[in-house]
Amino acid sequence: MTLALRNELAATAKRMSALGLTPGMSGNVSVRSERGLLVTPSGMAYDELQGEDMVQLADDGTARQGQRAPTSEWRLHRDIMAARSDVGAIVHTHSLYCTALSMLRQPLPAVHYAIVLANTDEVPCADYATFGSAELATNVVAALRGGNACLMANHGMVALGATLKEALRVAAEIETLANQYWHACQLGTPHVLDGRELDKVRARFAEYGQPRRRRP
Ligand SMILES: [Zn+2]
Repeated sequence: MTLALRNELAATAKRMSALGLTPGMSGNVSVRSERGLLVTPSGMAYDELQGEDMVQLADDGTARQGQRAPTSEWRLHRDIMAARSDVGAIVHTHSLYCTALSMLRQPLPAVHYAIVLANTDEVPCADYATFGSAELATNVVAALRGGNACLMANHGMVALGATLKEALRVAAEIETLANQYWHACQLGTPHVLDGRELDKVRARFAEYGQPRRRRP
């Protein structure tokens, strides 16, 4: 079970890189396991990652002995997981458009209805703190509130989900939204959807997709 989860975590990190969300060796991913939190290792090329390279954090959040060093952002993953029992996986990226917007230290507004996929009316921007610091983890937890994505000032973004697949999907959707927002801003001031409209979108999404198969 744990090996399967390790392999899934490594595959998600590779997929995140293949999607162009993580320049160089930036970005990291985590998932809840039966034995605690599994995170990607620090400073390894994505195309070399294997399940055995994933790092199991001890109860105090540090790496267990005899393993690779965990991502420098392990506090970020640990503190979000501790604050949000609804979250099973976290993706952190330095994707181009989210990172560019994070330099303005402003939220990403609801300029497209797809923002509801992040369970929020706007993607907030967490206050700046040095990468890897406890202060940064605190700032991100505070900015997220109940939402599933936030920008990180002068740094990047973080996306949450019940599963690895869901967290990566939110990261990709929010990066696309930031990209579209940037392009719209070249032409003028984009219109922002209000809360009432976003509620209607949420109701529509609840009915969207393929009908569920009946179980025998
Ligand atoms: Zn980072």
